[in-house]
Amino acid sequence: MRRLYCRACRLKGGHLIIDRNRLETIFERLNFKDYCWIRASQIEVANWVRFKCMFGCSSYGKKGSCPPQVPSVEECRAFFAEYSDAVIFHFAKKVDRPEDRVPWSREVSKELLKLEREVFWAGYHKAMMLFMDECRLCERCAGTREKCVNKEDARPGPESLAVDVFSTVRGAGYPIEVLDDYNREMNRYAFLMVE
Ligand code: SF4
Repeated sequence: MRRLYCRACRLKGGHLIIDRNRLETIFERLNFKDYCWIRASQIEVANWVRFKCMFGCSSYGKKGSCPPQVPSVEECRAFFAEYSDAVIFHFAKKVDRPEDRVPWSREVSKELLKLEREVFWAGYHKAMMLFMDECRLCERCAGTREKCVNKEDARPGPESLAVDVFSTVRGAGYPIEVLDDYNREMNRYAFLMVE
């Protein structure tokens, strides 16, 4: 692949000019049809998201890809600032029982990893997927990054990296709201950082 870099870009060294048509062919071949391109600068990172992880989430301190096993909020901001473009993938799902969310999330995450790899192989060396959920690849999480049994595949969800998913996806025109009942349809979002 001939690599074209943006000369006007202020990012150090410029960034790859993204062939969206080519990547969209990959998305659709892997059956990801509900997505939206955004500028990486549209991803909102907020301190309150980390505070909600620390005080209010039962996964805090128990998962290998969740706080406190992840970089600081400032490091997360710096990470997102190194990208120009991202893709939001939307998943709408209603489950019969709350526990059905876990195997569904696991299967979607495995498919998202395939997608990340294909985008990487297409020449986008910075491609990184943020799952639509906490990492649930294993039935029982090892609990820390050091003990993670699948370090190559484990990925954080956007909330773990302090992304304000509510504001970000609403800004892109997608629906999201707090659900007060498991019987209602969920709207979940994965983020692919591209370049
Ligand atoms: S890959 Fe498994 S052990 Fe590692 S963070 Fe994910 S669920 Fe936990």
